[in-house]
Parts: sequence; structure tokens; C-alpha cells
Amino acid sequence: MRMAHLFGRTLREAPGDVELPSHKYMIRAGMIRPLGAGIYSLLPLGWRVVRKVEQVIREEIDAIGGQEMLMPVVHPADVWKESGRYEAVGPEMTRFKDRGDRDMVLAMTHEEVVADLARQEINSYRQLPMLVYHIQTKWRDEPRARGGLIRVREFTMKDSYSLDLDEAGLDLQYRNHWYAYERIFRRCGLDYVIVGADTGMMGGSASHEYMALSEYGEDLVLICPNGDYAANQEVALFKRDAKVNEPLLPMEEVATPDTTTIQKLADFMGVPLARTAKAVFFVGESGDFIFAVIRGDLDVNETKLRKATGERTLTPATVEQIHAIGAEAGYGSPVGVRNCRVIVDESIRDTPNLVAGANKVGYHLRNTNLGRDYQADVVADIASAVAGLPCPHCGAPMIAERAIEVGNIFKLGTRYSESFGATYLDANGDSKPIVMGSYGIGSGRVTATIAEQHHDDKGLIWPA
Ligand SMILES: [Zn+2]
Repeated sequence: MRMAHLFGRTLREAPGDVELPSHKYMIRAGMIRPLGAGIYSLLPLGWRVVRKVEQVIREEIDAIGGQEMLMPVVHPADVWKESGRYEAVGPEMTRFKDRGDRDMVLAMTHEEVVADLARQEINSYRQLPMLVYHIQTKWRDEPRARGGLIRVREFTMKDSYSLDLDEAGLDLQYRNHWYAYERIFRRCGLDYVIVGADTGMMGGSASHEYMALSEYGEDLVLICPNGDYAANQEVALFKRDAKVNEPLLPMEEVATPDTTTIQKLADFMGVPLARTAKAVFFVGESGDFIFAVIRGDLDVNETKLRKATGERTLTPATVEQIHAIGAEAGYGSPVGVRNCRVIVDESIRDTPNLVAGANKVGYHLRNTNLGRDYQADVVADIASAVAGLPCPHCGAPMIAERAIEVGNIFKLGTRYSESFGATYLDANGDSKPIVMGSYGIGSGRVTATIAEQHHDDKGLIWPA
């Protein structure tokens, strides 16, 4: 076919608001066109590339026993109510009513539909293990849809679902996906790392993400230069300082004028940041006031804090809310506060005699000690890992890289099968819940990520 007949013009310039190279070059090459925020048409050239990526995915999932099928984009809300996610998921799920006034949703993912199918189709242990998948449209109403096909609202995903007798079966299918994904991303020419990740709204016991390194990525991954650790910052660990053993000194109040930052406070008191405690205030979804305490040289990680508190959302507390528990913004410490849950990082437990706020403007306390001067409701790891902190395995300073998540794998366990009554009869005739896993790759995002990693200043250079 002549280029003159190709539907989709090449453009000399991309629109002004385009930042990412993949976005710019795919628009200029006539591969994609926006219809609305986060909604794109794939023109013939773009569709041709995405189909090739999908074929790579299809071949590798077929090779581990996947059976391709197709599940719907529009779901009756009933299945999402059965799993509890109709209420649990926020406004990123689009809900609407059909003409009969029935609640409906647009598919974000398909665990519910698979669990519904499994309870109808599976009844005997002889039918397991099983692996099904589809390559289908999803809708997630992202607040910040930008960056071409990297972050969209309507997208196409390969999602596969494993159904097993037990955890050992799930472990095997999880491992099969691990290697299938490695083959897929290698064939697509992507430079990536596999990192431990948060299970988030999926639930379940374990999750890994495949992260393509890119300065435009929205995730931060911590990587050990020795290659023995990599994790999404949301869950990344680091080697903690050894417990400091020294006698507990008497607590005393000190006037600390003009110490508006933790650094100024440390300088004024003549102590390192690691000998200060800082307070961070949130209100959880339950309405509880969450009083987080962490050493001054570290920062609170909200994902970890949500997990430690069991709160799905955390909102920064207002000055009125802070005063209501007896604390003072900028001068807060857990000494003497009331009506709140005190969540303390491990760093506080292991470091005695910390400088902390006195809960009144202009004053701090010297030598505060957990257990003697205040109690914690929870002691947990709520600290953010950042570049330079030691690897949890070997202690080498970790590096931080921005990355685009191109795939993820989840061990769901029985979280969905128990809600849906998706069970099988074992060899003894006993009813057992099916053990599930779920595994996603966005084909459009993979295509755009290849473009991110394979271009020069003149345009795209697709790998063979
Ligand atoms: Zn290491």
C-alpha cells in the first residue's frame, strides 16, 4: 500500500502539552489520536504494533497452559457487591444504571467475573488446575490521565486467572507467569526490573510488579546495586540501624524559639536528626485520629501506614483536629495526647532519649522514651525507603529509579472464591475453596513503554 493511502497523517510537530517521548512520537507518526482525556484511537500503524505486542503475550500465556476467552466490559454491579469491591473501590470505578434501574459498572478488572464463572464451571478436584485469560478493554477513571498510552482511562489488558486446588498449585502458576512475563518483556525489548509490590485493592498475600525503567515513570523503585533486592517504594524495606543501648535520661522541657523545621530543631539542640522524633497527623477513613511518630531523619510512607492502621484512606489532619487531641502542629509528640491511635515506627522503639515536641508552641522535650513517657498502639515499619539507605539483605546503599509498571502478578488465594462460594470437592468429597491468582499486562502501555526506551531525537526505533 502507498503511504499516501495510509489513514493517519504524520505531523511535523506534536501538540504543545505533550511531554513524554512515546506520546510525542506516536502522535507524530500517526499511530494514535486522542478522543478525550485518557481515551485514544489507535490508527492502523498504532494498532499494528499493539497487535504484535498482544501476539507475543498470547503466545507466552498459551505456552504455560492459558486458555483464551472473552469476558464482558459491562458488568451487573451484583458481582462487585458480592466481592465487596462495589463499596471498597473509589471513584475510579464508573457506576451507572441500565434502563431497568439496575446498578451496572464498567470493568476495571475481571476477578469477580472469573470467580462467578468458576463457581458454575468447576465442581471437582479433577478439573484443576486451570488457567484462563482474555485480552479485553478496561475502564479506570484516573484523575490524572496524561502521557499518551502510558496512563489512560480506557485501555486494553491481558489478564489471566489461575484456579488451583491449593497454595502449592498457586505457587507453581505464579512461577509460570513470572517466567512467561520475563520472556514477554525480553521479546518486547524492554529493560525492566521485577519488584515486590503492595497488593492494594486486589487483596491476597503476595504481588510483584514488572517495572520498566524510565525517567517519566510514576513509580519509584529501590534497587540494590548488588542485585539481591528490588521493591516498589510503597513497600520497600531497608536495613535498620542497630538498637541504641544507653540509660534513659530524665525528660525535660526546653524552650526552642524559631525551630520551625526539624533540621533547625536538631541544630538548636545540638543533636543529629536521628536523635529527634517527628509527628505526622492523619485522620483515617474510620474517623480515628492517626498519630504517626517517626525518627526525624526518616519519612512516613503512607502505604505502609495505611497497612499498619487498617485504614483504607488517610487524610492530613486539620489544625482543629490536632488541637482536639491535645497536640500542636509543628510541636507535636505523643506525650500526653488523648483520643487518638499512636503508630510508632521501629526507629523510635530502637532509639532512646529523643528530642520531640512538647505540644505547645515554642517548646520541645528532651529525652522522650517510648514505653516510659507514652505508649504506642502499634509499633511497625512505617518508614519510606529512599536512595542511599542500606539494602535490607546486604547493606549496600540502594539506588532509586523512576519506572513504569508494565505488568503485575498477584497471589489472590481464596479472597474471591470464598466470597463467591467458588468451591470444588476434593478426593474425599470435602468442599474446598478454589485458590486463585491474577496476572495483568496492559498491551497499549507496553507498546508506549517500548517507544520510551527505543527512540532517538528523530523518532521511534522499534525493536525487531
Ligand atoms: Zn543488597
